[in-house]
Amino acid sequence: ATPTALMVGTGRGAQLGILIKGPEVLESTRAVDTVVLDKTGTVTTGRMTLHDVVPAPGVDADAVLRLAGALERASEHPVARAVAAAAAERTGPLPAVADFANVAGLGVRGVVEGAAVVVGRAALLQQGSVPVPAGLTRALTAAEAEGRTAVLVAADGTALGVLTVADAVKETSAAAVARLRGLGLHPILLTGDNAAVARSVAAEVGIDEVVAEVLPRDKVDVVRRLQAEGRVVAMVGDGVNDAAALAQADLGLAMGTGTDVAIQASDLTLVRGDLRAAADAIRLARRTLAIIR
Ligand code: ADP
Ligand code: MG
Repeated sequence: ATPTALMVGTGRGAQLGILIKGPEVLESTRAVDTVVLDKTGTVTTGRMTLHDVVPAPGVDADAVLRLAGALERASEHPVARAVAAAAAERTGPLPAVADFANVAGLGVRGVVEGAAVVVGRAALLQQGSVPVPAGLTRALTAAEAEGRTAVLVAADGTALGVLTVADAVKETSAAAVARLRGLGLHPILLTGDNAAVARSVAAEVGIDEVVAEVLPRDKVDVVRRLQAEGRVVAMVGDGVNDAAALAQADLGLAMGTGTDVAIQASDLTLVRGDLRAAADAIRLARRTLAIIR
C-alpha cells in the first residue's frame, strides 16, 4: 500500500499547487514545531511601490529620485524595482550607472553622472561616513513606524533624501498563519528589513515573534539557533538570501513565484506563491504518512 499512498499524496499535492521533491520529504513534516517565514515576497507580495520622497532641505525631490532610480535600475531587489519604476515614470529616461555594487541586505552603490551615489539603509551610509541630518532620520523613523520600508539616498558624501516604499501583505497571509498555528506550529517572522516594519507586518498577520535586521548571510544562523534550542524548523522563503536557511531548515518550503535558487534549496515548492499551501502541504504530508504506517 505504500507506493499507492505516496502517489495519492503527491497527486493531491499537485492539485493543491504543492511540488514535493521526493518521498523522503514527508517524514520531515512530522516533528516540525516552528515555522520561520521570510517577510518580503513570502508574507508580503514583494511588489513594492514608491510611497514618498522626502528631500533634504534645499534639494529637489525629483533630482533625488532620478539619481536613486538610475542606480536602482541595476538591482533586482523589490525596493530597487519600485524606485527605478517611479523614477522613470516621474523624471523620464534615467542616466547610466558605472561601478555598480550591491551590498547584500544593505543597499547599492555606484557612479551616476560623475557622482558617487549610495541608496540603502542607514548602516550603509555609516560605512561611508556619510552624516545623516536629523530631519531625514525623523522621516525615516516615521515611515518605518507606519510599516513602510525607508531607504536613504546620498551623493558624494551628502545625504540627499529618504525614499519610502510600500509593500502590501498578501490577502491570504493571515489565514495561512492561522492554519499553521492550527497544525501546532509556532510562527516567526524573519527579515532583513527594520524591526518597526517587521512588527507592523507581523501584527497584521497574527505573528508575535519577529527577528528583524538580519543580514542575508545570517538568516541561516537564525534557523541553526532555533534547532540548537531543540526546535524542529520549517522555513518558508522566496529569495536568493533565503537559500541557505531553506537548506538548513528541517523542512524548506519555497514560493514558486520566487527565485530558482530558493526553489532548488527547498524540499517543497508552493507553486502559486500562496502561503496557505504551506499549511496544506504539511497537513497533507502528515496525513499521507499516517496512511503509509
Ligand atoms: P528581506 O529579508 O525582507 O527579503 P533584504 O535582506 O533583501 O530583505 O533587504 C533588507 C533591507 O536592505 C531592505 O529592507 C532595504 O532597506 C535594504 N536594501 C537591500 N537591497 C536594497 C536596494 N537595492 N536598494 C535599497 N535598499 C536595499
Ligand atoms: Mg524575500
